[in-house]
Amino acid sequence: MGKSETEFSPGRRDTMKMLALGSGAGLLGLFGSTDTIAQKPEIPTGYKTGMPTVKIKSVKAIATAPEGSNLIVVKVETTEPGLYGLGCATFTQRAAAVVTAINSYLNDFCVGKDVDNIEDMWQSCYVSSYWRNGPVLNNALSGLDEALWDIKGKRANMPLYQLLGGKSRFAVDCYAHAGGNTPEAIAEDVQKYMAQGFRHVRIQQGGYGATSTVTQKPDFKAGGFGYEDDNYMNEHAYLKSVPKMFDTVRKVCGDDVELLHDVHERVQPMDVINMIKAVEDYHPYFIEDPFSPENMEWFKQLRMSTTVPIAMGELFNNINEFKMPMVNQWFDYIRVHVSQVGGITPAMKIARLGEWFNIKTAFHGPGDVSPVGHAAQAHIDLAVWNFGIQERAVFSDKLQSVFPGCPTMNNGYMFVNEAPGIGVDINETEAAKYPITTKSNWQVRKNDGTIIRP
Ligand code: MG
Repeated sequence: MGKSETEFSPGRRDTMKMLALGSGAGLLGLFGSTDTIAQKPEIPTGYKTGMPTVKIKSVKAIATAPEGSNLIVVKVETTEPGLYGLGCATFTQRAAAVVTAINSYLNDFCVGKDVDNIEDMWQSCYVSSYWRNGPVLNNALSGLDEALWDIKGKRANMPLYQLLGGKSRFAVDCYAHAGGNTPEAIAEDVQKYMAQGFRHVRIQQGGYGATSTVTQKPDFKAGGFGYEDDNYMNEHAYLKSVPKMFDTVRKVCGDDVELLHDVHERVQPMDVINMIKAVEDYHPYFIEDPFSPENMEWFKQLRMSTTVPIAMGELFNNINEFKMPMVNQWFDYIRVHVSQVGGITPAMKIARLGEWFNIKTAFHGPGDVSPVGHAAQAHIDLAVWNFGIQERAVFSDKLQSVFPGCPTMNNGYMFVNEAPGIGVDINETEAAKYPITTKSNWQVRKNDGTIIRP
């Protein structure tokens, strides 16, 4: 073995030694002038080495429902005047429980701790309750994590995507939601979104599981079972309707637009496998949630039966739930609900794991994610190499009045603003005008009244 090139480099080691010792003669020899060495390196305006530690002063939940969906935002205030961070902790269906988790437990856990060590905060908070991986506490943790990233971005004077590695693309390509009660109405809706510039459109007939197109009264209601506002799903009618919907939309809208569909886990595994095979010729961009998360083993059969791309994961709480499906390449798109999985820190790990298996991201972006959460995941979308597509968000005037700095949409792309951190603020006075509720009805039943996983 010969010596490396570095070890033979003339004078390198001596140069370093001279710099370390501050040898006047040596430095003069190198630079020729004492003026040059007197110049100090320019210190950037944001974070500076040796800055005093910034600590968490308080953590609180801000609950608001400008568009009807309960939204929860975590606000982390710090010992530095005016410096705070915001994160999304939304769990619409159990919002009041998340508020309690934040105000009663997270605040106590966080006060006095350093804002800078996000990974350490995440790991210690994750196990601080001993029992972990459930919703509610995960939502609270997500809000804290995003708020700490927001603070770090503000301290660095950089938008979040810069801290995650910078941009891999100029903007975030999104898919829109087209719906209607007939295939023709859906095709018209798809054309509307295509005219707005969307290249990807999700198609749903009669809502999830076609529940709103069912006209007959289910037997369970006649039999006095269940409750007045329970939804009825006719599984057979739904399964038959999907290939017809794809056929009509392809005929009307052509082959260029990418079409997506969400099964929402509502039917029997073999039935959905057969349905997916029946839509192969319409080349869907992906079919989402073919099974419930309790039925993951069915992916083996699905992958042997069809090559239609699959998206899955929005219901996963525990980041470890992503591991085996990704190692086994059971799905092609990772649906992460960032405010459920624990925030930006674990979402980045999941996205990076996907890179090793060429599995792309398709993060969950429904109306029950706050604009802070939408912006946070858009920063991730910009940064990771294996971004696939983003579910579009709609930022109404009401939402913008509560959340100044919402991302913007143009030509089917989402753009974050360039403000430091996540870039979305909250107007607490406006937020207070829209109180949250505890009402939640997500019941769907079969004809005989059996509960369907939603
Ligand atoms: Mg879904």
